[in-house]
Amino acid sequence: MSKSAAPRPELSGIRYSPAQSGRRAVFMAEARSKKEIRQIRELFDTVGQLAEVVPISQGAVMSYAVQSHGEASLFGKIEWLLKTQFTFSMVERNFSDVTFQLVRSLCEHADAEIALLPECGVCSALDPFPTRATLEYSDHSCTEVAYCGRCTDRFTEADPASTIHALLRKDRRRLRVNARAPVSVVCGPDLVTPESGDILFAEAS
Ligand SMILES: [Zn+2]
Repeated sequence: MSKSAAPRPELSGIRYSPAQSGRRAVFMAEARSKKEIRQIRELFDTVGQLAEVVPISQGAVMSYAVQSHGEASLFGKIEWLLKTQFTFSMVERNFSDVTFQLVRSLCEHADAEIALLPECGVCSALDPFPTRATLEYSDHSCTEVAYCGRCTDRFTEADPASTIHALLRKDRRRLRVNARAPVSVVCGPDLVTPESGDILFAEAS
């Protein structure tokens, strides 16, 4: 039997990972040398032990989205470290599409690469910390989908299974979704929240 004649696999289950709520910010810094690139990367590796970190661009413009569930002072500490150690840096709290456009235009004029961020299946907005789901099919293939915070809020229903089914129905790719497909809710890994307020970053040298 040729491959094209095989029956289309059935959707057998949905693994749903709701977005975690937390404070969010995008940090940008100009790196003028390989050494500075390494220093910024090391700084955000450290931040990654305390918060969720998603790289947005790498190279002459280094930028990261950070979501924190822990102490409120973390963003101020990162901002201070960037400001004191690098020539140009900035922070956008409560970032939006405009923030990503800004990073993109900075990268176009510099030797920097933009990372592919998850794109909302409903409105195409980029969201580094989206609501995610994995559609699992009877042939063990999977399709990953992501939905931005705005769309997730808009289509939130009383329970997680209804919410993800509502989002999948609104997905502009017209996914074939069996409304009876069972939903399992997967929560993100628990992040280590330091007990003391003292976070010591290694000083870049
Ligand atoms: Zn959206």
